[in-house]
Amino acid sequence: RGGIDIRDLSMTYRRGREVTQALSACSLTIPEGGWASLIGASGCGKSTLLRILADIVQPSGGSAMLSGMTPAEARATRGFALVSQQSVLLPWRRMLENVELGLEVARADKAERRKRAEEAIELVGLRGFERAYPHELSGGMRQRAAIARALTLRPRFLLMDEPFGALDELTRASLNFELLRILEETSATLLLVTHSIAEAIILSDVVAVMSPRPGRIVHQLEIGFGHH
Ligand code: ADP
Ligand code: ADP
Repeated sequence: RGGIDIRDLSMTYRRGREVTQALSACSLTIPEGGWASLIGASGCGKSTLLRILADIVQPSGGSAMLSGMTPAEARATRGFALVSQQSVLLPWRRMLENVELGLEVARADKAERRKRAEEAIELVGLRGFERAYPHELSGGMRQRAAIARALTLRPRFLLMDEPFGALDELTRASLNFELLRILEETSATLLLVTHSIAEAIILSDVVAVMSPRPGRIVHQLEIGFGHH
């Protein structure tokens, strides 16, 4: 079965004697190719959920599947790409070389790397800036480069944790519409964590609302925009 299938997920962090239950009985399904966003107060467990899907942390209980694969299996097949708030571009590499980085790690050959990087750069609207270093780009342009790097992997799942969270409201609004256009060009299933209800509504078919202590999905709202 396709899509993202999260069932009864629980997560307990332990640090010394301190125990935090971040998730409990957390369930969410997103159909293949669907776009979902996750909203909820700070600290309610949104990033934890995304980190579990991205195989950065292991849950204490329950299951999270991406097209029938565990997060570890999905990672091994490069099934997902993760874009976070402060995506790291290597400062000593030009934008094009940063975008190629994902495929370098995946050991794609040079010609293929260049071709896919150029396609992705075109898609995010950064043509002409290939030779710029990260410090020569605006914050919005750096995030677009990070998105391009993620797209070169042609992921089935795009996991985004506050991708525009560090940017001002106007830049954010313009990037939302740009991301919408990019999503329309790909067939990826999206899970977007955001603080912005506007962003969630613009970019989603489904808005999942999370409640804290411990984190779980309390509402799943269908948005009738009919994006695709
Ligand atoms: P959100 O992304 O919604 O802000 P998080 O998933 O980051 O929420 O955090 C959920 C809860 O888990 C919070 O109480 C947070 O303090 C706690 N938490 C998150 N990461 C860790 C960690 N590595 N160790 C201990 N507690 C953590
Ligand atoms: P973004 O909305 O991507 O953050 P800005 O609002 O900073 O971009 O800039 C708006 C436009 O100005 C960009 O899309 C780009 O075309 C151009 N621009 C931004 N920074 C530079 C730069 N360092 N050199 C040349 N043009 C730039």
